[in-house]
Amino acid sequence: MKIGVDRLRQEHSLPPEGYKALLTCRDPDVLSYLYAQAREVALANFGNNIYIRGLIEISNCCRNNCYYCGIRKGNIQVERYRLSRETILDCCRQGYKLGFRTFVLQGGEDAAQSSDWIEGTVAAIRGEFPDCAITLSLGEKSREEYERFFHAGANRYLLRHETYNKEHYRQLHPAEMRQDTRLQCLQWLKEIGYQTGTGIMVGSPGQTTEHLIEDIRFIERFSPQMIGIGPFIPHPNTPFTGSPSGSIEQTLRLLSIFRLMHPQALIPATTALATLAADGRERGILAGANVVMPNLSPQEVRGKYELYNNKASLGAEAAEGLAALDQQLSAISYRIVTDRGDFGKYKL
Ligand code: SF4
Repeated sequence: MKIGVDRLRQEHSLPPEGYKALLTCRDPDVLSYLYAQAREVALANFGNNIYIRGLIEISNCCRNNCYYCGIRKGNIQVERYRLSRETILDCCRQGYKLGFRTFVLQGGEDAAQSSDWIEGTVAAIRGEFPDCAITLSLGEKSREEYERFFHAGANRYLLRHETYNKEHYRQLHPAEMRQDTRLQCLQWLKEIGYQTGTGIMVGSPGQTTEHLIEDIRFIERFSPQMIGIGPFIPHPNTPFTGSPSGSIEQTLRLLSIFRLMHPQALIPATTALATLAADGRERGILAGANVVMPNLSPQEVRGKYELYNNKASLGAEAAEGLAALDQQLSAISYRIVTDRGDFGKYKL
């Protein structure tokens, strides 16, 4: 099966049965080989540099009710908050001093943070931090809204498709949410010129190997600049409480597959990985990830942005824990860099 790994590294693609063989492989030698090949490709493209992104969770209010999400509209246990523009700018100022050159504004689809407000906030960050990248992760918007944010200074947009299979999408989302809309949004983002990120939850309820193959083939065609993959972790106040978490091994396997498919993609070792295992972040990096996203949100709101149970936001997951993060990374011979870390052709 190592031949399949070599072929993926050389051709960046496999037939569906090749992906199936890798996704169901139980041979530890083959899996070690897969991770090692992905790691080599990441090292060849980025050296031992790990890009850091400062994550600012700007609102935990959302109009949607995704069945897997802890801040879904239907969860009445959540204490809701939204950050003011000035608080967000303060987070950026603090992050800039710590060395961050990318700010990621993430939030639910919150009508109170209007397009005018988002546009103004992006413009304010752009004005004060002209050398930084601004990433948005604010869900589905109209093409016109995406254009306005882009022209105000946003560079990147993260919007996970979660699953490419329509029936599976229906199992994870209420009827009013349409997968076609999500895919249309991704297309617009790319056309507008954003460095665009998509991705999936691994091990979400109802997910099969066939679904994962559909996801891989979609990502192969779409060729995003950023790929976010994290294990599903159930939240107690959702319909999926009691469902098992996704596996770290399957997440790492997919991470390596995506690294071999897209050698230059920006692939984070996600917080969900670090939440499931103390060494999850390091294992993600050793399987080919090259980005980490420490939390820059104000301390007092971090516990309120709980997408899944016990989400890590302390220690090396926190922006102020950068020294601890650097130490953890140097133990595996990697280092934090403060470069903006743009995708290939988008470099300044
Ligand atoms: S996953 Fe995103 S869109 Fe869905 S409920 Fe949670 S915050 Fe809202």
